[in-house]
Amino acid sequence: MPTLAQDLQQRLTAIREQGLHRALRPVASPQGTHIEIAGQALINFSSNDYLGLANHPALKEAAIRAVEKYGAGSGSARLISGSLAPHHELEEALAAFKGTEAALSFSSGYATALGTITALLDKNDIIIVDKLVHACIVDAARLSGAKLRVFAHNDLEDLKKILLWANSRTAATPPRILIVTESIFSMDGDAAPLKEIVALKQDHGAWLMVDEAHATGLYGTNRRGLAEELGVANQIEIQMGTLGKALGASGGYICGSQTLIDFLVNRARSFIFSTAPVPATTAAAIAAINLVQSNAGEELRKLVWQRVGEVKARLSIPESKPVSAIIPIGVGDEAKAMNLAARLREHGVFVPAVRYPTVARGAARLRLTISAAHTSDDISHLVKGLKAAGCELPNAN
Ligand SMILES: *Cc1c(COP(=O)(O)O)cnc(C)c1O
Repeated sequence: MPTLAQDLQQRLTAIREQGLHRALRPVASPQGTHIEIAGQALINFSSNDYLGLANHPALKEAAIRAVEKYGAGSGSARLISGSLAPHHELEEALAAFKGTEAALSFSSGYATALGTITALLDKNDIIIVDKLVHACIVDAARLSGAKLRVFAHNDLEDLKKILLWANSRTAATPPRILIVTESIFSMDGDAAPLKEIVALKQDHGAWLMVDEAHATGLYGTNRRGLAEELGVANQIEIQMGTLGKALGASGGYICGSQTLIDFLVNRARSFIFSTAPVPATTAAAIAAINLVQSNAGEELRKLVWQRVGEVKARLSIPESKPVSAIIPIGVGDEAKAMNLAARLREHGVFVPAVRYPTVARGAARLRLTISAAHTSDDISHLVKGLKAAGCELPNAN
C-alpha cells in the first residue's frame, strides 16, 4: 500500500491533468463588489451577496451588538445549553417572514439539507430530485438510504413517470415519496416550474421540499422567494433556504409546520450534534431579514434587477423569465474557462470559472453574478473586460 502522501499526490496529479485542480485565494478585503486578491484590486462578479448585505452597516452593527451582549461563542449544541435568545428570535423572524408556523435554523445550508432529508427518509422511502440540485441535496439523499431517482432538469414528464413508478411499488408499508428541487438554480439561474411540480406532487401523493437558496430576498411581493411569487408557498411542505446568499450572513433554515420543526429538533442529526451558530451571524441574519422586509429591501431588489438589465442589454443577452442575478456564460472546456477567468482578472474583473464537480464535465462556464451594490461603472468595467478577454457570448440564456 502507498503511503498516504503518495496516494494523495497521485490523486492530485490526476485532478491537475483534468484541468480540475482548485486552490483557495485569500481575499484581503471585506466581502463586496470591490475586493482585493494577492494585492490586486478586482471588481467582484462572483458572490451570492445579491443585495449587498454582507458588508452592510445594519448587519455589522447587529453582529457587534450581539457579541457584546451574548459573547463570541455559543458554547454547545442547541439542545444542550446553546439555544441562545438570538436563535429563537431568528426562528421567529424567519417564520414571520416566510409566513409559516415555525422555522428551524442550522449552521449552514449544507447542514440543513443533510439533517432534514436524513431525518425524514429511510431506506424504505423514495427521493426524487432534479438533475441539477445542489450537492448537499444529493449527498443527503444518498446518506438517507432512500431510493434516489433523478428527473431531467425541469422535465415534468420525466418527473411524472418516476412518480407513477413510485406509486406502483407494493410494499407492506408504502414508501414515503419526497420530491426535492431548487427554485432558482444555483449555476444556471433558471427557475423550476413550481406550480406544475406542486400539482404533480398532489396528484401522486408525494411531499415537496424546495431549496430557495438563490431566491429568498429576491422574488415575491414580500421577497420570500419564488414560491411566494408563484403563489404556491403554502403547498410546499418543506421550505428550505440559506442565510448566506441574499441575506448576507451565514446558515440555513427550514420553514414549515410546527410539527415538522418539532420533528427536526428531535431527529435532524446535523442540528442535534453540532454547536449552535455563534450570536454574531445569528444577529446579522435577523437584521438582514428585517431589512429585506422593509422598503429598503424593495429598493435593493429593484436595484439588482436594474443592474441585471444593464448587463444583459450591454452584452446582448436576452432577458430570462423570471429575471435572475445569476448569468452563466457557457464555455464548455475546463481549461478554456480557466483561461478566460485569468484574462478577466488581468483586466481587474473577477468572474469565476465553474467546473466539475460543481457542474457536469465539459459544461464549464463563467458564472457571473450581479449585486445591488454594483454601480453602472462596475458594469462598464465588466463589459470592457469580457470584450478584452475575447469572451464569446453564444449561449446566453
Ligand atoms: C449555497 C447553497 C446551499 C448550501 O448553503 P451553505 O449555507 O452555503 O452551506 C444549498 N443549496 C443551494 C441551492 C445553494 O446554492
